[in-house]
Amino acid sequence: MPTTTQFQLNLFGQDEPGPNQSEPLLNFRPDRFGPATVDYISSRQILTKASGFMNEYDFTLNPFSGCSFGCSYCYAAFFNYDVSKKNSWGEWVTVKENAAALMQKMRKGSLNGKRIYMSSVTDPYQPIESKLEVTRSLLNDLAQNHKPKLVIQTRSPTATRDIDLFHRIEENGGQVQVNMTITTDDDSIKKSFEPSCPSSTKRLEAISQICASEIKSCITLTPLLLISNGRQFINRLIDTGVRQFIIQPFHFRKGKFVAGTRDQALNLLAEKLNCDRKSIPSKYDEIYQEFLQLMKSEFKHHDLPTPGEGKHGFKPPF
Ligand code: SF4
Repeated sequence: MPTTTQFQLNLFGQDEPGPNQSEPLLNFRPDRFGPATVDYISSRQILTKASGFMNEYDFTLNPFSGCSFGCSYCYAAFFNYDVSKKNSWGEWVTVKENAAALMQKMRKGSLNGKRIYMSSVTDPYQPIESKLEVTRSLLNDLAQNHKPKLVIQTRSPTATRDIDLFHRIEENGGQVQVNMTITTDDDSIKKSFEPSCPSSTKRLEAISQICASEIKSCITLTPLLLISNGRQFINRLIDTGVRQFIIQPFHFRKGKFVAGTRDQALNLLAEKLNCDRKSIPSKYDEIYQEFLQLMKSEFKHHDLPTPGEGKHGFKPPF
């Protein structure tokens, strides 16, 4: 997901539980996976009409709610009305166990040409996805029955597992782009801000592999965290073979109906920048602008397109 950009509350539509199933739809249903608790719902819908920041897409597709990656800055926590869930963001994930059944009910071809963004309020490659294959079952259905224009947004190398299905979607007339979020070159910074996410190195390797398999690929530096060696990091990004990049800063403004960077990340930023909370925006902006200028000049040198920014950067690629 784009992360930390300001989103309106009505952007994604909240999933409501649907009717109870008499039989569980998944055979394997652990109630904990790694550090996160796992629960299961039968959802009323699997596709949500996109609006707001994502309004150039037709639908968002979220196989889960919650996210066990638990990034300190994640705006998605904001969309929970349940305060205890908001406060324990990162410690739970809810599986939409009827996701594949809902997709199978759709008329064949009804998603032809539809721009779908997976996912806007979770990561479609949750750690538990490696066992449950909910995302894989959705991709399988999209490959068999539709020709979607699909963008997959993730921080997980598990996306490489589904390269075969990305190709099948394309062979059957659809289009796929995989966006891999990589926010820093510094492991200790990653550990502080994204403690449960895979390492930047693993994410770089994964997107290199996806790109080498000739699936359209993009790296999203969203939000840009603190960097230890800008030039070296940019060269590592370029070495992946990816040609498309999106960069975004933290967004510090938030309000009653606008999601912004979580307090947890702001406290970390104050600590890392050695300043009080009020001084963060100006100190951070200097770092962001300096990195962006370096990125632009290195990209020009390598004949790469200028990195996209903000909503324009996230517009559908096809
Ligand atoms: S990976 Fe999960 S916690 Fe991190 S920004 Fe995306 S949805 Fe939020």
